[in-house]
Amino acid sequence: MHPFEYARPATLAEAVALLGAHGPDARILGGGTDLIIRLRDGTLRPSIVIDLKRVVELAPAISDGNGRLIISATTVMTDIAEDPRIRGHFLALAEAAAVVGSLQIRNRATLAGNVCNASPAADTAPALLVYGATVVAAGPAGERRIPIDEFFVRSGLTTLAPGELVTAIELPVPQPHMAAVHVRRTRRRGHDLASVTLCCGVDEAGVTRLAYGSVGPRPVLFVDESGVLADPTAPTAAKAPILERMFADASPSPRSMRASPEYRLAMLRVLGARALQAAIERLAAR
Ligand SMILES: Cc1cc2nc3c(=O)[nH]c(=O)nc-3n(C[C@H](O)[C@H](O)[C@H](O)COP(=O)(O)OP(=O)(O)OC[C@H]3O[C@@H](n4cnc5c(N)ncnc54)[C@H](O)[C@@H]3O)c2cc1C
Repeated sequence: MHPFEYARPATLAEAVALLGAHGPDARILGGGTDLIIRLRDGTLRPSIVIDLKRVVELAPAISDGNGRLIISATTVMTDIAEDPRIRGHFLALAEAAAVVGSLQIRNRATLAGNVCNASPAADTAPALLVYGATVVAAGPAGERRIPIDEFFVRSGLTTLAPGELVTAIELPVPQPHMAAVHVRRTRRRGHDLASVTLCCGVDEAGVTRLAYGSVGPRPVLFVDESGVLADPTAPTAAKAPILERMFADASPSPRSMRASPEYRLAMLRVLGARALQAAIERLAAR
């Protein structure tokens, strides 16, 4: 492993100052489940790794206020999957967090790290898109709030500015009520990255939000306000063309070892239709 300095700042100001001082040579460490692999294989060679786990303002916490839940940067998947407020208002995010890696991975992996890593296969990304999450960043110029749909650029790249780190992810409690479902397809049982990862949400006003990842350079969101997709009585023939338009942007890489583009596109259609139906049933069962 390439040698690097290890810093464990105690405050957010200290962490931001370290990041500013070292520029692109610095790397933030959340849980390290992505970062350590890249340090080991040499695809990342930072001069300094800044560990956020002792930063007092970023301590693991899920708090609520002003109609939103705020998930701090060091909160791990296990806590997200089990939190009763997340399970109550954002069940699809809990479902997505619960399938990330293995129990050991989920005990280390943070939600912030999952989005900052910006893998197209990040399992929490579709749910965060469906729920309209906001990424809260801190940097030399202070705090900045980035809608999640404006956060992902492509694999490994986000719209975080140089010197910025993520302090929290905020979720507005859906108004009107929305029921959402997360589903994914992997090559095998056990822990594996998704060949398709998808979330569909249907709200009481008839709006459907569908987001998917692992079938293109970044996870994407589509919104249908026609009411047709959310209508439990609408025939499949009426829904099919709307779903097809939502899937039209999918462009899986032919170079992936995980699944062929044809397989991913076929699974996208199957999972999309299943998740829509499951979300409609979940809304009706409320
Ligand atoms: C065996 C295994 C199985 C896995 N399975 C899955 C899976 O099923 N689904 C899935 O989605 N992922 C999976 N992953 C990937 C990984 O566990 C997740 O992406 C995880 O959420 C990353 O979080 P972390 O806290 O460990 O991030 P880290 O490894 O600490 O960081 C990841 C990247 O984000 C940056 N970063 C982290 N926190 C911040 C911050 N607050 N501000 C700015 N930048 C930051 C780091 O510098 C780094 O570039 C798996 C990984 C392994 C090793």
